[in-house]
Formats: sequence, C-alpha cells, structure tokens
Amino acid sequence: MKKDEEMKDEDFSFNVDYARSRGITEPELLAMDAIYVYLFCVLRKPFHQFDTHKEVVDVIQAMEYTLQLFWKFPLTAEKHSYWYQVAACRCPKMDNSDPMYSGRRIINMDCEFHGGKQ
Ligand SMILES: [Zn+2]
Repeated sequence: MKKDEEMKDEDFSFNVDYARSRGITEPELLAMDAIYVYLFCVLRKPFHQFDTHKEVVDVIQAMEYTLQLFWKFPLTAEKHSYWYQVAACRCPKMDNSDPMYSGRRIINMDCEFHGGKQ
C-alpha cells in the first residue's frame, strides 16, 4: 500500500470525486480502494482463495454491502451490481445491468454460482 501523499486520484478504481462529494474521508477512500481491489481479484479468480461457489457468492455479497456502507447508500441487495460479474457466472450480463430490471435478479438456472445447484 502506497502512502497517502503518493496516491493520485487515478490510482483509485472508483469515482473518487463522487465519493468525496458524498463526504467520504481520505482514510475511507483508502479502505474502499482496498475492498475494490480485492473484489476485482475475487471476480477474476473466484477459486484462488475459496473452495465452493457458495463461499464466493457470500464473500462478494459481503463486500457489496460493505461498499454500500462506505458510500453511505442504503444497505440493500437490490442495488448490488457485482454478483453477476464473477468469472464463469452464466447469468445474463445485459439484463442484469439494465436499469429496467433494477432490483430484480435475472438468473440462469444453469449458473453454478446462482442457479441453486451449488
Ligand atoms: Zn450467475
């Protein structure tokens, strides 16, 4: 981890200006960045640290809630947007990112993460 003064805005993996506009402090920005980095690692290589699909689903959900907490958003699974981005998830990406379906999860029953067969 780099020291605060060496961190530039472009080092962050999220909209840091928007975060600051929501009153998020610099230490919170660093914590959020660490969570985003870890989240993206899990999304790319879900079984690097976890053995089962359920563990991966649970840890992604926990990080989505934690990020909502930092962003000062309501804690609601309806607004989660990373669960279907995990590698090898077979749920439809387009439909799940479409605001028309906001709050609803479009599940592919053949998905090993979300189809209920894990
Ligand atoms: Zn899925």
